[in-house]
Amino acid sequence: MITKNGKGVFGGIAFGKIHIFSDHIDVKKYFTSDTAKEKERFERACNKAFDETISLMEKTKEDVGKKEAEIFEIHSMMIRDEEYVSAVESRIEGGINAEAAVKETGDEFAEKFLSLEDSYMKQRAADVIDISERIIKALMGKSLNAKDLKEKTIVVAHDLTPSQTVQLREGNISGFITEGGSGNSHTAILARTMNLPAVIGVKGIMDEAYEGIDAAIDGSSGTIYIAPNNTTMKRLEDKKIKSDGEKELLQKYKGVKTVTKSGKEIMLYANISNMADLDMVLANDAEGIGLFRTEFIFMESRTFPSEEEQFEIYKRAAEKMGGRRVIIRTLDIGADKKVDYFDIPEEENPAMGFRAIRICLERTNIFKVQLKAILRASAFGKVAIMFPMICTLEELRKAKSILNEVKLELDFAGIKYDRNIEVGIMVETPAAAIISDILAQECDFFSIGTNDLTQYTLAVDRQNSKVNSQFDTHHESILRLIRITAENAKKEGIWTGICGELGADESLTEKFIKWGVDELSVSPVYVLSLRKKITELYV
Ligand code: PEP
Ligand code: MG
Repeated sequence: MITKNGKGVFGGIAFGKIHIFSDHIDVKKYFTSDTAKEKERFERACNKAFDETISLMEKTKEDVGKKEAEIFEIHSMMIRDEEYVSAVESRIEGGINAEAAVKETGDEFAEKFLSLEDSYMKQRAADVIDISERIIKALMGKSLNAKDLKEKTIVVAHDLTPSQTVQLREGNISGFITEGGSGNSHTAILARTMNLPAVIGVKGIMDEAYEGIDAAIDGSSGTIYIAPNNTTMKRLEDKKIKSDGEKELLQKYKGVKTVTKSGKEIMLYANISNMADLDMVLANDAEGIGLFRTEFIFMESRTFPSEEEQFEIYKRAAEKMGGRRVIIRTLDIGADKKVDYFDIPEEENPAMGFRAIRICLERTNIFKVQLKAILRASAFGKVAIMFPMICTLEELRKAKSILNEVKLELDFAGIKYDRNIEVGIMVETPAAAIISDILAQECDFFSIGTNDLTQYTLAVDRQNSKVNSQFDTHHESILRLIRITAENAKKEGIWTGICGELGADESLTEKFIKWGVDELSVSPVYVLSLRKKITELYV
């Protein structure tokens, strides 16, 4: 048994076989006389790549639209294209390995497409590279098609992007381990929302020798056990039974009002990033959605989701929550949450660059489509709108004025929406907290984003594992900014919530309530434990 340590970002015990995931492809060319074996490997990889493409096509058709799914149909035909297949096979017959044969063929075909006059044919160059990479990944065992995993799997990666993490949602994944990463990243937040034990910062875990080996994760201590012995397995299984038992005990807090012993009622909400999280929200009896991270809808799509597609999603969320508040945060793209089709130029410092409301106020067509979809959904439940990354009063005014334009357009078209829809802002920059007295006069609520607030106040990149220990959410400056914000909100008669990860920190719950925080929005898995805590407090 080998034991390794890292930082647990979500507690719980997970068991499974290790699958090392790396999307870096470094194709090595070598000579081999076993042509039959290489051809067979190529055929199997083509079948796998073909199946993946078909399932991507079906998912895109269902989630985005028929037109957007067409590209995958073209890809599936290219994988089966006779000319392409025989070009790869003749290279294999020439005595080289399948990976190199596919790479050389892909490059040759791409070059041919690029030399053509027709712009449609030129575009096929990217497609032939794309399908060749998919086949190479299948050959190298590097495709992460979570749905195909037959056994419980622990995914091991150097780091995962939020969009790769989202792919894990649909598979047989019991937990994940990364060599890099940071506890405050969106990847860690997603692990909590998806209820997956996760450990980050585990040095040396990417060793290929661990592939397929049984392992266990203890997310609460941040320990990894590779090929655990019987004693360790027994101890971990007992620990899992105990923690499942504790979770079971919390079930009695379902349906209970979130009121302190002194009679102060707190709105206890949950954060979601996609519709799949809604079931967890309902199962854990959250009283509303305090933060719907809508950028994940964009990240899971191959192109801009249309007004209709967004409307359907927001409407379903509003209806499923049955009259409970659903706070929809407008697009917070940028920094680690990248979407290629937005074509945002590379930046030296993306967290401080062109992101969130800054993008929306400049690319108002995208913003307006989203606002229209949210407003239309507001006719089907209790929806609220929240703007991210506000730093100035001008930004808030501009965002509200665009919202008013959209309302007028809906009025003109005779489309219904909630005329009293609440409009709030995220307080996640020190600037917003410091001028919260001014901002409070022009919005209906505040929701404090302690993740970004900590990053910007302490000048500590939330993504950078090197400065993880400096990411001190309890720093006096952060606590003061939260207090100032809540007090300023009270003075103007609006409510304040916390939707950053600190909202679930039970060591601060009493203080938050004392300072006047009215709402806490946390990962669904923390709702019942936080309700227990609040109902035991005398504040
Ligand atoms: C935050 O910054 O605290 C927040 C809730 O938003 P996100 O984590 O999505 O940036
Ligand atoms: Mg934020």
